[in-house]
Amino acid sequence: MTEPRSTATLARILFSPDGATTLGYEFVDAGSPQLLVTDVAATRGDGVFETISVGSGLPQALNPHLDRFAKSAALLDLPHPDLGVWRAAVHEAAATMADHDEAQVKLVLSRGVEGQPAPTGWVYASVAPDYRATRTIGIGVVLLDRGLAHNVAQTSPWLLAGAKTLSYAVNLAALREARRRGADDVVFVSSDGFLLEGPVSNLIIRRGMTLSTPRTDLGILTGTTQSDVFAWAESQGFATEQALLTPSDLTGADAAWLVSSVRHAAPLHAIDGSDFALDGELTAGINAALRARTG
Ligand code: PLP
Repeated sequence: MTEPRSTATLARILFSPDGATTLGYEFVDAGSPQLLVTDVAATRGDGVFETISVGSGLPQALNPHLDRFAKSAALLDLPHPDLGVWRAAVHEAAATMADHDEAQVKLVLSRGVEGQPAPTGWVYASVAPDYRATRTIGIGVVLLDRGLAHNVAQTSPWLLAGAKTLSYAVNLAALREARRRGADDVVFVSSDGFLLEGPVSNLIIRRGMTLSTPRTDLGILTGTTQSDVFAWAESQGFATEQALLTPSDLTGADAAWLVSSVRHAAPLHAIDGSDFALDGELTAGINAALRARTG
């Protein structure tokens, strides 16, 4: 009898009781409860995470994800994650998804159980949703005011703009607002009128042979997918830039995408209810390159 294909695997990161040392990791039953209800991951969203694409069992853009994980942890004054242990856990969890074309691995580090010194950490691998239609048909977006100025990361670092924290209720509320307005996704705009990012993605626009993305000092996440898209595009003769962009730069662009791990490049076909041209050929090229990544 053949073993059923794994659809989810879970590794817990093991810490010494004082939290000072990362001891390793162990695989546990992904279908059994593992988190105490007093863990601040659940009660406060006080932690950080990463979601990594997995293609045929291989994690993609692993190093940039681990770097961003450590940077987010530092912004929250969490203990520095022992990246050697996390990397090994990600590889092993991802490998359990080798029979699936596309999967994902989520890493979470929380400050731990209330009143205890050790953090909580886990690595969870699961099959990815099927985004093939979205990558072809595209998405309608609405522009929503994020209510923060473009220099929020400099003026108010305690707001953690640019850290990938577990507090995603606002991001998910923005996505629900998009659906109420008949759209699929959101492009956030700063209170002073600059394009930022999506709630779970980065924005790329094409003007002629130049791809542009909002600057990473605008309180947005440094996108691992955006960076890989730019590397591929440069190999195809495109120029790339990080820039201060406005909504008219987007509506006047030749094409645009929201890019992220797992969903990859979703081309925009409508902005605030108005049709927007979709570059099917370039979209297919970008998505093929993203899927082909082996590291
Ligand atoms: N911006 C935000 C707020 C995100 O949550 C994400 C990913 O989830 C991204 C951008 C895209 O980052 P990446 O391409 O590394 O997945």
